Amino acid sequence: MENPRLWRIAVALLCLFAVCTTYGGASCEELKAGDRTVAVKHGSLSTVDQPVSLVLQITIDQLRGDQPSRFKSRFGPRGFRYLMDRGTIYSNAHYDHADTETGPGHATLVTGAEPAQHGIVSGEWWSSRLKKEVYSVEDANFPVFPLRKDSKKQIRGEGRGPGNLLSTTIGDEIFLASDERSKIFAVSGKDRSAIIPGGRTGKAFWFHDGGFTTSSYYFKEIPGWVKAWNDKKLADSYQTKTWTLLQDPSTYIRAGRDDMPWEGTLHHLGRTMPKSFANPNLDQFYEGLEQSIASDEMVLAFSKELIAQENLGRHESVDYLSLSFASTDYVGHTWGISSLEAEDNILRVDKNLAELFDYIDKKIGLERTLIVLSADHGTGEVTEYMQTLRFPAKRVDPFDFLKHMNDGLKKRLRVGDNLIRIFIYPYLYLDEDLIAKNKLSLETVERQAAEVALQYPGIEFAACREDILNGRLSSSQLHHVQIMNTFQPERSGHVHLIGGQYVNLVHYPWNKKTGLHGSVWSYDTFVPIFFAGPGIKPQMVARRVGPHDIAPTIANYLGIKPPSGSVGNPLAEVVQTEH
Ligand SMILES: [Zn+2]
Repeated sequence: MENPRLWRIAVALLCLFAVCTTYGGASCEELKAGDRTVAVKHGSLSTVDQPVSLVLQITIDQLRGDQPSRFKSRFGPRGFRYLMDRGTIYSNAHYDHADTETGPGHATLVTGAEPAQHGIVSGEWWSSRLKKEVYSVEDANFPVFPLRKDSKKQIRGEGRGPGNLLSTTIGDEIFLASDERSKIFAVSGKDRSAIIPGGRTGKAFWFHDGGFTTSSYYFKEIPGWVKAWNDKKLADSYQTKTWTLLQDPSTYIRAGRDDMPWEGTLHHLGRTMPKSFANPNLDQFYEGLEQSIASDEMVLAFSKELIAQENLGRHESVDYLSLSFASTDYVGHTWGISSLEAEDNILRVDKNLAELFDYIDKKIGLERTLIVLSADHGTGEVTEYMQTLRFPAKRVDPFDFLKHMNDGLKKRLRVGDNLIRIFIYPYLYLDEDLIAKNKLSLETVERQAAEVALQYPGIEFAACREDILNGRLSSSQLHHVQIMNTFQPERSGHVHLIGGQYVNLVHYPWNKKTGLHGSVWSYDTFVPIFFAGPGIKPQMVARRVGPHDIAPTIANYLGIKPPSGSVGNPLAEVVQTEH
């Protein structure tokens, strides 16, 4: 046959015949019992049919989009550079929601949904039904297993579980598509950054009081291998360790700026390098570990043990592991993104990634792993630093703002009561009981509250709940869209506030942090997105995309359905591959 087209047709027919006789496709002939098992297995996210055995979703808390490229020349070849040199990089990825915080960000990363659909509208919110503040991952039905009886660490709310998450996650979808064969795990230095990515079907572990714990939502008791790992007391070994600069001090761009007046401190961890971790007060010592580079080192060491103990990526269905590294966020909050501490931290993040990738290569094979890396939000420069450069940056004092609100409403509405129930950024919640007692209309008070808020210096926009519910915001204005994307009727407040650029509008005690995030502005919405894995080409894409596109992209890559609340789109550069 000299005609190449006829050759191709003949080969295709032969292949079709081979497929039919090998797997007994239903259209060709009746399945035998044994063949049916094979066919069903292959339809259940089997690793035989999939290019990957493990989906690894990494989140670097507070890693702003420009940071990896800014420090690229200082990175080794096996961490960020592995993703940069071999993967597809989205260099213009932004969140489209209005509250750029850890809870909403993680939920968007794993659901492909906006807060309006996944329900995590903020780190915490006011529940008018329960008449109390609700932390995003609290669930009183599922107590946390304590690691220390004498701990004085305050935890917000009671119990921990994923009950407040309204959407399935990509991990849940992998679990469902595998007929419950896939293993789904999530680990982080913060509870919410493990619990949200774990979804309802995964298992979550987080660092707390010197070890990794979990709640009764996931296990009857802490698994034996976790207890054994905790008993090795890796955390306690930091009593004799010091945080020193990782590389030659002369190579640091901020070597001469280690003691800036706006930097904060955390107990014994002062403003300058190096820092000794030693502290006889165990509560302060563990908090120091949790909120420094030690947190990521613990997550890395624990995750390696988890991969080995649970045999991840080495059985019949595709597994999913979410790792959220929180050091970057804590370091940014205490010392600021432009500190020497933050510079050293990102070099350490790179080193940790290299160690993680090497370990996965040895245990599973990077050629069998889909890696996705992004962040839950970015951050701005420290307010007081911006002021030195004559930018009109400012911090809003939440107590002064609340007084302004209550006084303003009393005067306008001629009432004696404080009508603001609580200010939880980005929301003002009104006291519906007092409004009813004073025979006022809720809509009137909302509208008056928005007007009073706009009189406070630094408040740029205030949207009433009534206007959001009735579609009176514009879909062509970015901030209106960000607000609508964040609106969930039972959890969002009566008035949604937006501060101006470099105005830090946050409730107590977060307003005390050196570095802050949470705004609608591009320094807070900007994050990196990297995809690396079989068939994915090295390329840089500058088109504006969003973290809500990540979960639908993973789903499309695996040929499964996206999470239930997903509104993002599969990223064509990743899914149009020959994997
Ligand atoms: Zn943060």
